[in-house]
Amino acid sequence: MDKRSKSTPSSLTDPTGRRISYLRISLTERCNLRCGYCYSPNTSDLSRNEPLTKPELYRLIEAFSHLGIDKIRFTGGEPLLRSDFVEIVEQTTKNFHVPIIGLTTNGVLLKPILPKLIGLGLNRLNISLDSLIQETFQSITGCDSLHTVLDAISMAEQSGAFPFVKVNTVVMKDINSGEINDMARWALQKKIDLRFIEYMPTQNNGWGEERFIPEDEMRQRIELDLIPVNNSGASSGPARTYQVPGYPGRLSFISAVSHKFCRDCNRLRLTSTGQLIGCLFREQKIDLKKLLRMGSSIEDISDFIQNAIAYGQFRKPYDSMVDYRPSMVAVGG
Ligand code: SAM
Repeated sequence: MDKRSKSTPSSLTDPTGRRISYLRISLTERCNLRCGYCYSPNTSDLSRNEPLTKPELYRLIEAFSHLGIDKIRFTGGEPLLRSDFVEIVEQTTKNFHVPIIGLTTNGVLLKPILPKLIGLGLNRLNISLDSLIQETFQSITGCDSLHTVLDAISMAEQSGAFPFVKVNTVVMKDINSGEINDMARWALQKKIDLRFIEYMPTQNNGWGEERFIPEDEMRQRIELDLIPVNNSGASSGPARTYQVPGYPGRLSFISAVSHKFCRDCNRLRLTSTGQLIGCLFREQKIDLKKLLRMGSSIEDISDFIQNAIAYGQFRKPYDSMVDYRPSMVAVGG
């Protein structure tokens, strides 16, 4: 039987009744781009910690799949900096019951390995792209790879392997905000779901009101008739999605600052050093690597995670965007 087609109800529910079915795994804190809104040279309280070994990573994926996690997304840092990335996807799709396997990448290293990843069962793909203009792309990322990224997006879109290729765009006033309408029109003509992301205040990222544009203002800049898509499905996540009649693409907004979405949060995050995070904007972490290195069994680790989520304050109810500022490059966005 195909391990990925079995259906296992999640047994992870927090005290507010939120069911958790989605795990984002950061595979590295390293990145090949230097986007100022994300990366900072003095980032991260985690980076001095030792990373998980691959056997440890697989044991944790096994524990989470037993707990009913049905979607895993690999992120980073830049996950494709791991030379063993293809192997990690292969081991995950082959050995564990996780029907949805996603990747969030900046796309720079994607094209040569994309066919292989699709063949192994990668079925969700998000590519970050903050500008269609070479100079702006370079000034945001510190890198001149715009066309490499655009080629990877085209290849992914034409493969037909993904319901939509999701493109993540962090909108910053007077940096790329003038491109909102052009980017919307570019995406709508393809099977792309362009997600305009509100710029969030994270660790050392220079966030300020003067650079922030709320979703409502972004929508006003789009000179098109936006029709809401039914967003009630579990997979819609924090994005609010719109169609435009006559176009194959879609536009979405992820608005952690102006429209908090804690009530619908169904996710956990695992860092590359084995720390489990219940909320992006909470400092509290569970050190799963320590449990592994103490010799705990998969069952013990599963019980521990389940109890922490069911009874603890690990996932605090509905109050994100507090004082704590995460390091996105360490935690994985
Ligand atoms: N390197 C990969 C990439 O570029 O997609 C994965 C890691 S990156 C941290 C994941 C996502 O986090 C990116 O899509 C980026 O847009 C988002 N992100 C990082 N810092 C952010 C911030 N301050 N506000 C909003 N989104 C942010």
